[in-house]
Amino acid sequence: MTMKMIILGRQGAGKGTQAARLSTHYGIPHISTGDMLRAAVEAGTELGQMAKSIMDAGDLVPDKVMNGIVAERLAEPDAAHGFLLDGFPRSDAQARFLTETLAPAGIDLVISLEVPDAIVVERMLARGRADDTEEAIRRRLDLYEAETAPLMDYYRERDRLVSVDGHGDEDEVEARLTAAIDAHLGAVDGK
Ligand code: AMP
Repeated sequence: MTMKMIILGRQGAGKGTQAARLSTHYGIPHISTGDMLRAAVEAGTELGQMAKSIMDAGDLVPDKVMNGIVAERLAEPDAAHGFLLDGFPRSDAQARFLTETLAPAGIDLVISLEVPDAIVVERMLARGRADDTEEAIRRRLDLYEAETAPLMDYYRERDRLVSVDGHGDEDEVEARLTAAIDAHLGAVDGK
């Protein structure tokens, strides 16, 4: 059985923190496109130089670039039987590329981590990342609604979407997530 999962949710929903915990819990790689881009910026690679201003503005790095990065990462041996994607897909074109090219055998589960707007803005301002200016935060939330939220329908139609409440402390949210994942994957297994 494979464990190929995606975690969706607005920035500030606690996705990164929870994805890291789930990666440890299930022994699957946590593949965060934001972390990969930040590492490229830090290293000053060509990709990093291209991505930096886009990220600072809260815009999206072009689909073609992102698809290439994720294709390379998913070709690594540790991702053969499972992975948890965090921050990808973020657009219809990315979702289609993932379904059609990268994971033709299917994504096992898409988790939507739900936290209200007011809380995500507060959390983003508190974490103080370089791209967490008020303007960039607003831009990212707008883009999330326009580009990424519609992916919920895309995955819901394929019956692989589960919503989890992202309120509360980290342990509580993790327990909710593992319960939802175990229930879903158990059901798929016919257990
Ligand atoms: P994140 O760490 O997921 O919040 O991503 C930080 C920034 O990296 C985003 O605001 C985007 O500028 C860029 N980024 C990360 N993942 C993607 C993606 N899948 N598509 C386009 N841009 C991305």
